[in-house]
Amino acid sequence: MGSLTFKQGIHPEYNKELSNTKAFQKAKRPEQVIISLQQHIGAPCQPLVKKGDHVDMGEKIADSDSFVSAPIHASVSGTVKEIKTIQTPIGKSSQGIVIDADEEDTLAKGIASPGSLSDLSPDDIKKIIREAGIVGMGGAMFPTHVKLSIPEGKEVDHLILNGAECEPYLTVDHRMMIERPNDIIYGTKLLMKAISVSKAIIGIEENKPDAIKIMKKATANEDGIEIKELETKYPQGGEKMLIKALLDRTVPAGGLPLDIGVVVNNITTAVAVSDAVKKGVPLIERSVSVTGSGVNNPINLIYRIGTTIDKLIEEAGGLTEDASKVILGGPMTGFAQPSLDIATVKGTSGVLVLSKDEVADFNPQPCIKCARCVDVCPQYLMPVNLSKYAAKEMFDELEDYQVLNCIECGSCSFICPAKRPLMQYIKVGKNEVIAKKRNKS
Ligand code: SF4
Ligand code: SF4
Repeated sequence: MGSLTFKQGIHPEYNKELSNTKAFQKAKRPEQVIISLQQHIGAPCQPLVKKGDHVDMGEKIADSDSFVSAPIHASVSGTVKEIKTIQTPIGKSSQGIVIDADEEDTLAKGIASPGSLSDLSPDDIKKIIREAGIVGMGGAMFPTHVKLSIPEGKEVDHLILNGAECEPYLTVDHRMMIERPNDIIYGTKLLMKAISVSKAIIGIEENKPDAIKIMKKATANEDGIEIKELETKYPQGGEKMLIKALLDRTVPAGGLPLDIGVVVNNITTAVAVSDAVKKGVPLIERSVSVTGSGVNNPINLIYRIGTTIDKLIEEAGGLTEDASKVILGGPMTGFAQPSLDIATVKGTSGVLVLSKDEVADFNPQPCIKCARCVDVCPQYLMPVNLSKYAAKEMFDELEDYQVLNCIECGSCSFICPAKRPLMQYIKVGKNEVIAKKRNKS
């Protein structure tokens, strides 16, 4: 049987060879971290510290009473310099805690393994994941304990782990599978226990043959955990595409993977879960690819959350002379940054720097009605119509044309020969439709 996949999608240049053989290196401790209180989808956290307080590494510094939220911990030991309004990587503003680091890396009291797979109950595991502040590490940043809380009346039979890493350039999940296969398996088992399922599938795109080999070896004697090869195609790592490819199930319009018995998590999230249980360490550092032709030495790093982009670029040998655009995340779904002072968050898996000749001028032309955007949309939508309705603020029509099913993958914008920013229009329109629905309820 060939590699599994979904219908439609695109085949961009992957450019993963820039960093896929670079083993993780630990980034230097930054002199200062700026930790956003909006680290994830859901309610922002409230600070538990104030200016002048000393904090230890791993100490909880912010939390929220809201269910859809996850606490935040200090990624260095040091002194709280201030709490101020900052810009987040997605272009919004939020409160941020600025900590001047000392050189001690003093670990917070009480950080120790809370137990093991065999002695923790499903509820214990969910609580540990919440208290460790773990959110989806693939970029979506949804609090993981919320994903694992199965509402009454729903039945889940599969955990899917996303090892597709379909965004061009990014290689952190790839390196995790090569360097930490046993922690991925341990994290997978913890996640399986948390949702009481006996079957897990780890889906990996076939452009990572070394990772597939290592993961197959690591799971050879594991009951219930299968490795499946996926075709290399964008957006193969989207939850809905993964489920279609691996289980041939379709998430209903407006529904969730839970509605068809599936929970999806990312490879790197499984490693964070393993660390929280094996070592008691909350989510204070993560992996990132600092890559692209605009940096001198593309690299994979483990960095402290709250490190500013410029420090990570320094670790990659600095910017090249023709560096032109910095994107946090991958080129398909990432966000261009206005400055290098922006601080990284739990979902920052890529710092991509493109050179001048790779950045096209923004010069959209009239639509030539070629329908290529319709042919590639993995959600069988009509991006050409959706973008027009969004531009004209025709929100009822947008909803009728299923804008809420758009997964914001950017395949339509990528393929459009007229270079129309289709996804960008659709995204803005979709947010308006969501806001209107919320106001009505
Ligand atoms: S309409 Fe949405 S789901 Fe379809 S290709 Fe465009 S961004 Fe992707
Ligand atoms: S791909 Fe671009 S030019 Fe072609 S139909 Fe869609 S919007 Fe129009």
